[in-house]
Amino acid sequence: MVRYLVVVCAKCGSYRVVSGVQKTFRCFSCGTVSGLRQELVVAYANTAEEARQKIAHLKISRAARREESKP
Ligand SMILES: [Zn+2]
Repeated sequence: MVRYLVVVCAKCGSYRVVSGVQKTFRCFSCGTVSGLRQELVVAYANTAEEARQKIAHLKISRAARREESKP
C-alpha cells in the first residue's frame, strides 16, 4: 500500500512529500495550497526515506535537463 506521495507544487514546481490520506498540501517554498490532484503526483513511496530519495533523484534529473537545454 502506498503511504507517501511525492508531489510538485502547481505554482513554483517545488517537490515535497505528503501522506497518502491528505486531500490538499501546502508548498513549503511559496505557501500555495493545492488539491492533491493526480497530475501533481510525480512518485509514490512506502517510506518517508524512500520518498526523500525519490525527490533527490527528481531534482538531479531536472537539473540535468536544464543543463541540456542551455545553448
Ligand atoms: Zn510552491
